[in-house]
Amino acid sequence: MNYAMIKRSLLILLALVLALYANSTFYCEAREPKRIALTFDDGPHYKYTEQILDILKKYDVRATFFTVGTNVHRFPELIQRELSEGHEVANHTYSHRHMAELSEDEFRQEIEAWEEVIYKEHGYSSELFRPPEGILTDSERQTVEAMGYNVILWTIDTRDWAHNKVERIVDSVLKEARDGSVVLFHDFVSGESPTPEALEIIIPKLREIGYEFVTVSELN
Ligand SMILES: [Zn+2]
Repeated sequence: MNYAMIKRSLLILLALVLALYANSTFYCEAREPKRIALTFDDGPHYKYTEQILDILKKYDVRATFFTVGTNVHRFPELIQRELSEGHEVANHTYSHRHMAELSEDEFRQEIEAWEEVIYKEHGYSSELFRPPEGILTDSERQTVEAMGYNVILWTIDTRDWAHNKVERIVDSVLKEARDGSVVLFHDFVSGESPTPEALEIIIPKLREIGYEFVTVSELN
């Protein structure tokens, strides 16, 4: 074995060690992905829910829809699609009234009327509740928890309902994303929604940096 051969063998060995090291780093990351839950409030909506479902399907992502009872009643086929495509459907009250203005009885009715409509039309129930605007008094929280619900808020607010710009939504989600984040979007927005366009950018980017998309129940 001459000097050139030894040098070549050493280089091959070095390349093999580097390849093994790179592979093991990748393997560790792939084994423990960071998890994130995308959530969509206020739907279903005749236009945006369908668009959002198409995007989620295209990227094989499952999400959680905090639905409003009146819309559940109006768009049963969209609820059916959400359920059949593996998404989680959760309680966001029957008519999205301000919780602070309700008596305790009215508050209960808002939750129970949602349960009735979704059970009657889809045989489905949920243990997740998100109050309109994320606002809940301590006694309302106790009431809803006694009814068997987990109260779910969010860690990242995209402000898509206020027609936040697509770039700003993308920036804030990518900057604030952590393992265990819950991202607040809306699939019912009055006027033009930036949400579908933002999702087309956010989903592949989050996946590229190691995120796995889960439903809220899978996260908890
Ligand atoms: Zn809402």
